[in-house]
Amino acid sequence: MNITHIEHIGIAVKNLEEAIPYYEKVLGLKCYNIEEVADQKVKTAFFKVGQTKIELLEPTSEDSTIAKFIANKGEGMHHIAFNVDNVTEALTDAEANGVRLIDKEPRKGAENLQIGFLHPKSTCSVLTELCQQPE
Ligand code: ZN
Repeated sequence: MNITHIEHIGIAVKNLEEAIPYYEKVLGLKCYNIEEVADQKVKTAFFKVGQTKIELLEPTSEDSTIAKFIANKGEGMHHIAFNVDNVTEALTDAEANGVRLIDKEPRKGAENLQIGFLHPKSTCSVLTELCQQPE
């Protein structure tokens, strides 16, 4: 696979309204997009840091994976997302290298990215997302 840069870092928070002021007032970043991703049961808020983004993730349901993450570990860093040229190929490459995939096929994530997750059991416990920019 060909990774071009870190697309974003995903951070689990209990409440976007409470988290956003830290990023805006203390770090001086600007929240440029808030978006609900219904099939992942999260509401996301995005900030740009150069070419990389910070993605805050608030669960919208008790059975959201983010709700479970916060219940187990508390708020904090949830995943790292690498930008790749071709996410379908990247997932195939990873699987060919023995990596367990959460997503066998790419699906649509926030900001219309095509995304696929690698299982943390195969990635030294760092939940890893691969994403491709929309055409
Ligand atoms: Zn993400």
